[in-house]
Amino acid sequence: MKRVVVLGGGESGVGAAVLAKVKGCEVFLSDFSSIDEESKEMLNKYDIPFEEGGHSRELILNASEIIKSPGIPETAPIVADAYKCNIPVISEIEFAGRYDNAKKICITGSNGKTTTTSIIYYLLKNAGLNVGLGGNIGKSYAYQVATENYDIYVLELSSFQLDGMYDFKADIAVLLNITPDHLDRYNHDFEEYIKAKFRITQNMQPEDCFIFCSDDDITLSHLNKIVVQAQKLPFSQNKIVENGAFVSDNKLQVKYNNSEYSMFLEELSLQGKHNIYNSMAAAITGKVMNIQNSVIRESLSSFKGVEHRLEKVLSINNIEFINDSKATNVNSTWYALESMTKPVIWIAGGTDKGNDYSPLFDLVKSKVKALICMGVDNAKLHRDFDDKISVVVDALSAKEAVEKAYELAESGDVVLLSPCCASFDLFKNYEDRGEQFKRAVKFL
Ligand code: ADP
Repeated sequence: MKRVVVLGGGESGVGAAVLAKVKGCEVFLSDFSSIDEESKEMLNKYDIPFEEGGHSRELILNASEIIKSPGIPETAPIVADAYKCNIPVISEIEFAGRYDNAKKICITGSNGKTTTTSIIYYLLKNAGLNVGLGGNIGKSYAYQVATENYDIYVLELSSFQLDGMYDFKADIAVLLNITPDHLDRYNHDFEEYIKAKFRITQNMQPEDCFIFCSDDDITLSHLNKIVVQAQKLPFSQNKIVENGAFVSDNKLQVKYNNSEYSMFLEELSLQGKHNIYNSMAAAITGKVMNIQNSVIRESLSSFKGVEHRLEKVLSINNIEFINDSKATNVNSTWYALESMTKPVIWIAGGTDKGNDYSPLFDLVKSKVKALICMGVDNAKLHRDFDDKISVVVDALSAKEAVEKAYELAESGDVVLLSPCCASFDLFKNYEDRGEQFKRAVKFL
């Protein structure tokens, strides 16, 4: 019997273990740290042996195949040992894809994955299709393959998941953009990260579709170096494209083979330049899936947005509060600032991942009235912004930041939490940061 060992006992790992078990494999799950109660209950329900608080080499290195959760780096000693023993190491998505005949729509990119995945899912649901949502979002894809029966999956894929994918094939692949991120996991080599993102196109056939941003030079130059069999459908806000999506006359327009779609930009429920890209990717997907124009229009104009992504919290005394806690890198904050139409009190800071803030300088000079640095170590923000913003102050909690912002703001301003940084110095994660921000706003 095939022995499958799963490394990592979170959503992804437990789902993979359940699927392996249901498919008749001998399964063992191992987690270096602790496993939460809910996961343990699930493992017990399916009679899957597991360990936590360490890895037993003798129970792992006898595997026929290892499924590694995306949070575990390739350099973890147990993974390195597995490679030495020539044990194939794959991701949950690769494993589940083997047992899934559904059509697969896969979304990757440095920014915008969750938003675009959610819009596409919403669109397909509105069209009445039997569709599941998975990958980096919601319930484990493998778990759903084990327990559900969907015709279509919309899957958000991170580069870490793509790293462990070999034979998996997307029917529709969306690559939103590529900017430097997570380079600590890619030997500080941007090229390696780009290649990881492009794995989303591997194995694609001419009847498949590859949707990508042709305003992104990094995507374009890599695309010129490789062969992608799928039909290429670019989207652009700078030029008109023959087959794909573009902006002209203040309209988002799609041309797909012989059919067309268009809607006014102001009808889009998600505003901002970045969301025009996300909506274009979704609109092309809708056309490829042969969804009626009326359903695409209704969906793109009623989609509510995802929590912690430019989420409107409240307006108090005509001061608007926006939670963009998910903006954990410079590029995403650039788009947040770009989309602001009122004077901004900007709350930023946290764990710096080696940020270069210079792309923000022009936007900051023209839009930001005051900066509140919310982090344990704010030295770099001060160094880069003290001479560009008239008021720069520090805060050590979301509550303090919100109170200071409210003091500094005047009627007609916007208070924007868009941190540019990871959250681990003061918060559990970005969700915790966003929630504490919202709570503090509601408390004002
Ligand atoms: P991801 O899942 O890739 O992290 P999200 O949809 O969660 O992306 O959005 C994260 C942040 O990135 C948001 O706060 C938003 O401001 C910004 N963002 C969203 N879409 C894009 C895009 N297409 N290009 C650049 N930034 C974006």
